[in-house]
Amino acid sequence: MTTTYTFYTSAKILKIVGVILMAAGLLGVLVAFAGYQVISPVYFGLGGIMAFCAGGLITIWQLRMQKPVAEQNNYTWQKDITARGITGWVIALVLTGFYILLYWFPNTLKGLVLAVEPLSRLLRHKPADQWFLYGTFYTLAVLVMGVHALLKYRNNRYHIIRTISVMFFQLGFAFLLPALLLLFNKPEFYFSYFWPLKYDYLFPGTVSYLVQDGAAMGTFMVFWGAILSFIATPVLTYFYGKRWYCSWVCGCGGLAETAGDPYRHLSDKSRSAWRWEVAIIYPVFGFIILTTLLLWLNSWSEGRILGSLSQGFSATYGFFIGAIFSGVVGVGFYPILGNRVWCRFGCPMAAYLGLLQKHLSRFRITTNGGQCISCGNCSTYCEMGIDVRWYAQQGQPVIRASCVGCGICAHVCPRGVLKLENGPTENRYAASVLINRNDVDFLS
Ligand code: SF4
Ligand code: SF4
Repeated sequence: MTTTYTFYTSAKILKIVGVILMAAGLLGVLVAFAGYQVISPVYFGLGGIMAFCAGGLITIWQLRMQKPVAEQNNYTWQKDITARGITGWVIALVLTGFYILLYWFPNTLKGLVLAVEPLSRLLRHKPADQWFLYGTFYTLAVLVMGVHALLKYRNNRYHIIRTISVMFFQLGFAFLLPALLLLFNKPEFYFSYFWPLKYDYLFPGTVSYLVQDGAAMGTFMVFWGAILSFIATPVLTYFYGKRWYCSWVCGCGGLAETAGDPYRHLSDKSRSAWRWEVAIIYPVFGFIILTTLLLWLNSWSEGRILGSLSQGFSATYGFFIGAIFSGVVGVGFYPILGNRVWCRFGCPMAAYLGLLQKHLSRFRITTNGGQCISCGNCSTYCEMGIDVRWYAQQGQPVIRASCVGCGICAHVCPRGVLKLENGPTENRYAASVLINRNDVDFLS
């Protein structure tokens, strides 16, 4: 009795400490944002960011460890923050507002940029700018919410390793390594992003910037990007499906699987959503192929062929897809539309990997249909809006271009029906053997 009482008291104290730290941190960030001319943005801003993260970690620990693993998704549809309630909308507005300021009014973020100045000087020997601020926020979101995912899925080895992988790639390859390159006066480069996701990496302008003066490092970067795009991507997708990238390496996928994980159930499962998906994502992929080809044609002709058209294509893509779709809608709308809107509807890399996965891969999710009780957990928590239950009921393997292999459908299935597998490509679509009532004739 005394032990239980002590446990609840410490849990309550932890909860209060976590909330106070988060509130104080948020206040510090707001003060740095609005009043950097009169107060120290570093003390308030950077201090606020650190306090918010510390409070977040304490709250996450307290929240997740209090619940048994089987109850981690309880009340998801009842909580205001995860069920499109007022808190969810407020978070969506704040995130969307931040992206709008970041892309189109960066001067308004000066207080926060000054807050991360010491970190930028330390890592890159350069003053901070809005993109360094964004990278810092992004990485912290992946790390803090990565801990959340680790605790939530703590009984599942696949999810533990996958989450550590996205945290590692975000921190190492997308944050520290590019900063170190700048520190050593090398071109800024992100080794975990390739064309067509990092669409300008194969643009002639970027290639000549990287290989300027025959720099060995720049040549390696161009070589790395091309090899990863055209050789490693098809080979790895053949063996493992698109999950090797979308759920293990990619920064956008990493954010979706960590910060976006509480919103995965909000994905639209309707047939019309799937039609929109197909109608948008493949044209986006086609658009970036065309833009890249036009730019090369223009470069070879030394600006004589299709100069303004190719520049126009490039600017249009950067504005509508690079800024509005991937940032404002893709992340800003997590609490409203789910965590994979960008990956599902807009990412050209997902389209490329999806085509390979659907037609040239050993990956599939096999379903032991006879065990399915049609609870629908798998479909509910599929962030890509796939109606997994439908496949399970038929005993058919899930082979879909959009499946990112996150494995959550298998994790939430109470009957162990689903299994992520890399098997032979022969008979890949074969269904499992179902026993129905006509076979046994005991219900008629
Ligand atoms: S089908 Fe399963 S593994 Fe694929 S995206 Fe949906 S939840 Fe993830
Ligand atoms: S979660 Fe499992 S039991 Fe429930 S519908 Fe999906 S496959 Fe069937």
